[in-house]
Parts: sequence; C-alpha cells; structure tokens
Amino acid sequence: MAFSPGNRFSRPTMAQIDLAALRHNLARCQSLANGNRLLAVVKANAYGHGAVPIAQQLAQCGVDFFGVSLVEEGVELRQAGITSDILVLGGAWSDDDEIVANDLVPLVFSAEQLRRLDEAARRVGGMARAHIKLDTGMGRIGVTPGELDDFVRSLALTRHVRIEGLASHLANAERLDHPQNAAQIRHFQRARERLRAAGHDPKWRHIANSGALLLNDAAKDGSDFNLVRPGILLYGEAPDPALNERARLKPVLSWRTSITHLKEVGEGQPVSYGGRWTAPRPSRIATIPVGYADGYNRRLGNTAEVLIRGQRARVVGTVCMDMCMVDVTHIDGVCLRDEVVLIGSQAGERIDARELAERVGTIPYEILTSVGARVPRVVVDSEESQTPHIASAT
Ligand SMILES: *Cc1c(COP(=O)(O)O)cnc(C)c1O
Repeated sequence: MAFSPGNRFSRPTMAQIDLAALRHNLARCQSLANGNRLLAVVKANAYGHGAVPIAQQLAQCGVDFFGVSLVEEGVELRQAGITSDILVLGGAWSDDDEIVANDLVPLVFSAEQLRRLDEAARRVGGMARAHIKLDTGMGRIGVTPGELDDFVRSLALTRHVRIEGLASHLANAERLDHPQNAAQIRHFQRARERLRAAGHDPKWRHIANSGALLLNDAAKDGSDFNLVRPGILLYGEAPDPALNERARLKPVLSWRTSITHLKEVGEGQPVSYGGRWTAPRPSRIATIPVGYADGYNRRLGNTAEVLIRGQRARVVGTVCMDMCMVDVTHIDGVCLRDEVVLIGSQAGERIDARELAERVGTIPYEILTSVGARVPRVVVDSEESQTPHIASAT
C-alpha cells in the first residue's frame, strides 16, 4: 500500500491518530470508572498524540475534566476552545496570574503556593480554584502527613482560593498485590479525616491512574474516591504488559513512513555508521526517512522490526538522526514508496509501542511521548472513512 500524506510535508513520515480508537478506549475507561467522574490526562501533548485534537474529541464525547502537567499545556487547551475544568498535575510554582486568567486548577501542596495563588486571585478580584495534593507514599510532590497541620493553618489564611479536590498518586498502581497500594489509601483516608475535622471536605477525591482504574476497586469506591485520572489507557496501552488482555484497548497512534531509497548490497558490505551491520549475503536494503531525531530510539538499531507488505523486516545498522536502513531481502516485490509501519498494523501484522519499549528496556509511555515534534500528527477516524486531515505539524 503506497500513500502520500499531502504536499505540506517533504517526507512521508507521520503519526496517524485514530479518533475511533480513542473513543473505544474512553468507553472502556468509563465502564471501569464505575460511575465516578473521569479526568482525561492529556499532559505531554496527550502522550505524544496531539493534545488539542485529543482533548477536542474527548470533550465531544462528554469528558469535562482534563489533566495536564504544565501551565502552558493548560493554556494551549484554553486557546483551542476547551472550556472544561483543567487540572495542572505538576502543581504551580510560578505563572499564578496565568493560572487565574485561564481558570486552571493547580494541585497545591505548600503554604508558599497557596499564598501566591491567593494573591494572584485577589489582584483580579476573583477566586482561584485548586486541589490539595497529598504525598501518601509516592515521594514526589504533595503534603506529607507530617506537614498537614501546618498546611491546614495556611489554608485558614487563604481567602481567594477555593479548594475543590483532594488528590494523591500511587507508586505501584499496576501491581494489585503490592502492599503499598493499601498503605497509600489508608494514608489518604487519615489525611481526609484530619482535613474534615478542620472544616475542609473537598468535593473531588482521587488517586487512581490507569493501573488503579483497571485493578483497584478501593481507589474508585465512590466514597473516599469519586474521580479517576486515566492517561495511558486512553491511548490504547496498558500500564503493564501483563494487563493488556484485561484492558481490551485499541492503540490510537500508528507511526508510518515509506521507502525512499532501495539498493542491493554485496555480501560483507557494511551499512550505516560504524559498520555495526554487514550483509551476511547479497541483500536488498531499504532506506526510510525516520531517525532518532524523530524519536526512533538509536538503540533500536540492529534490533527493531518494521512492517512492509505485511511482513516483518529488521532495522539493520545504526539508526541515524534522520534515517535508518531495513533489510528487505526476504520480501517479494518491494518497491520505492512502499508503506513502512514502525508502530501499528499492516495486513494483519502488528507492532505495538510495547514491543519497541521492550527492545530498548523502557515502557510504552516513553516510546509514545518520544515521537518527535517534527513528525506530523495526522488525525483520522477509522469509523468514518473520511479523508485524513493534518491536525498540527508539531
Ligand atoms: C500522568 C499522571 C496520571 C496518568 O497516569 P497513567 O498511568 O497514564 O494513567 C495520573 N495522575 C497523575 C498525577 C499523573 O501525573
């Protein structure tokens, strides 16, 4: 199958984003959520998928709460017309005016943050909104149990910040039997009691990322916890390969390019930098226009496979910045411009982000968020069979 992505781009490399798969995964998350409110995590450019088209589609499907990591990610969604609540998961340590002006909801966990947010809201004569972040054992950000009394005293001095939620984050959510899960939930419950005793009972309470949404009923009980925050499940990957069956998801992103050069090499001839591969026999080598500057990890050289004409073919030699080479000797009829799939399906074969992750010793999250800014995201809808349109070139 040959294809051309339109004439805006000089090369055929693109990440195709399937909105139908996204809707499927959202429905799975909604059914796992047991009626609790759902916040869709769209940080890091929606895990590399393109924050704006992803959030717009989710909003159309009724999602009314988004999670980003950075203030500027929240501003990007506001500028694209997203009017729902937007939680800034990374917290706020500057840009309080921007937070208030864009009605973003940061996680807060220090007296200093409360004071700055309070002042920013007072300056414009409004109210800021925030969720309290508890550190129940993740050891990253949040109010620890030992800091809670001081934090409550700071809350009492805060006039222009409305606390709408109480949040924490699990360190081992994708392992149901890990004892830290229950311990973290107990810490949360105790902190919630102490806050209640001080007169604070935030409306939204949440701790469940994708792992907990899949596995942990206590983290979505509708009582202590009434909101869930999936990220990776929405994009069609489970947080752990062992959970894939159970998750029943559809990958949203496929990464495609096509052959831009074909040649024959003789036995013993080296290919690419450092000659880390030499042809063991007369071979046919395809060059594809994608490299580590596009997020195709350099460690995939001599290791990864791609799909061409429905067959697997190995990446041979070192991955270059902008290109890499593939041994296609065994594939009949290979032509210039044949489609090459790095992640995704082709004629019944499939390569998942998970497979690439395992080859380089990382997780699908890193593979997806690494797809480079210069790879255009092309939004398609496999249920509508409409012509693809370019969502953004970033
Ligand atoms: C990234 C993130 C999530 C989503 O995690 P997944 O494992 O992708 O579901 C949820 N909550 C917080 C605080 C996060 O930083």
